Amino acid sequence: MKIIVTGGAGFIGSHVVSSLLSEGHEVTIIDDFNDFYDPSIKRSNIAFFPSSVDVVEIDLRNGVAVLGVFEKVGPDAVVHLAARAGVRPSIADPKLYIDTNITGTFHVLEAARRSGCQKIIFASSSSVYGLSKTVPFREDLPILQTLSPYAATKIAGEQLCGNYVNLHGMRIACLRFFTVYGPGQRPDLAIHSFTDSIENGRPIKQFGDGSTRRDYTYIDDIVQGVLGALSYVDGEGALFEIFNLGENETTTLAKLIAAIEKALGKKAVIERLPEQKGDMPLTAADITKARTLLGYSPSTPIREGIPKFVAWYRQLHSRN
Ligand code: NAD
Repeated sequence: MKIIVTGGAGFIGSHVVSSLLSEGHEVTIIDDFNDFYDPSIKRSNIAFFPSSVDVVEIDLRNGVAVLGVFEKVGPDAVVHLAARAGVRPSIADPKLYIDTNITGTFHVLEAARRSGCQKIIFASSSSVYGLSKTVPFREDLPILQTLSPYAATKIAGEQLCGNYVNLHGMRIACLRFFTVYGPGQRPDLAIHSFTDSIENGRPIKQFGDGSTRRDYTYIDDIVQGVLGALSYVDGEGALFEIFNLGENETTTLAKLIAAIEKALGKKAVIERLPEQKGDMPLTAADITKARTLLGYSPSTPIREGIPKFVAWYRQLHSRN
């Protein structure tokens, strides 16, 4: 298939592109290489892709430019991963998140419709579940309130996808990713920033008493889920579906820090800070639906994933 991957230079996007290429797909990346984190990391994520991968450097907020790429490429499918990610920065600059994640998603959907592309994967997030008390979270839970502008943009994106399916007969799978980690993880995310600080003897900031819990998902499992979803929208299944992609295992912040300490062989210096507004106390994915319909089968629990991440981190820094 001819596939456009938005955000293809980012953490998850670059792993997805690698797998799509190894399955023989033709890939065009749309990415604006913004400075949410060091753009040279994004350039190095895509440095080893073959020259057949077209990299188009545009901002999704520019609808005319997005449409131009879609008309030129004529994609069969889109994996829409580009977004401003992260809960806390969305509280500091909600407009940027709304413009990029909602208007940007609208531009992608509209360009897909106008260029005759019917198959779309949309990257949503576990953050849409907010303070939901029913755990593990199932896709059919009512979403009554989100806790951050970021989460609100993701539920809005899902809603827009639902509209386009209903109005224009597209096939769309929205994937709610649960905290993704692994080689290439964004430097702002806890596992990466804790590893960096502990390795270099700097204190880590622990928000709350360490009892918050997350379902951490290894990148290879997420990629398997994205490819499964792509086959799903390419088949005869329902037109609009939402899937959780998690590991179905929750880990407290305190246990996460202990696992990183063990893998590094170093003790953390912990600076305790109050809980942050917008953060969820718990995320936990029910992945029955993805297992059943996508053949999703996550296989890297956190006790195996953290040592793999630390090995990648150390190899990267031994070269620099
Ligand atoms: P990332 O920041 O590494 O990747 C996003 C990419 O999108 C970046 O390369 C960025 O330059 C690009 N981008 C951002 N705004 C753009 C714009 N206006 N125009 C063009 N390109 C733009 O983040 P990631 O962790 O790889 O996340 C990918 C997707 O998965 C995002 O939609 C994110 O919200 C979602 N997600 C991630 C996680 C996680 O734990 N990493 C969890 C839930 C959901």
